[in-house]
Amino acid sequence: MSVNGLPPYDTNNIFARILRGEIPCKRVLETPHALAFHDIAPQAPTHILVIPKGPYVSATDFNATASAEEIAGFWRAVGQVSAPLEGSGYRLLANMGHDSGQEVPHFHVHVLGGRALGPMLVRPA
Ligand code: 5GP
Repeated sequence: MSVNGLPPYDTNNIFARILRGEIPCKRVLETPHALAFHDIAPQAPTHILVIPKGPYVSATDFNATASAEEIAGFWRAVGQVSAPLEGSGYRLLANMGHDSGQEVPHFHVHVLGGRALGPMLVRPA
């Protein structure tokens, strides 16, 4: 844990490597503060990931430490990517930490749409 209670940022996580251009991605949008690209294993006809360009582990980290310009720029990018789905509807989803099953420790929002998405959470058996 770092001093602020958040896990330290892993500079070699897969999205950091995508941002550095070390790993390719199918880019949807790039702005000064955000990058959007198609998920490698889509779970809906539209499944886009939007990430801030800065090194933030989670929404907690991003909301506490990013600048106002980064926060506004990131959410505007989410809005731009989501806009084509406005008519049919869509889901924004962000996993944070162990219990959520977050796989990649760089804050990201999933934009999902293109079909009826079903219940928000799988009910426990
Ligand atoms: P999480 O579980 O952390 O919320 O979601 C991570 C997402 O990143 C998953 O949906 C997974 O398919 C996606 N992902 C993992 N590795 C890569 C990659 O190398 N490229 C792309 N485009 N997506 C990836």
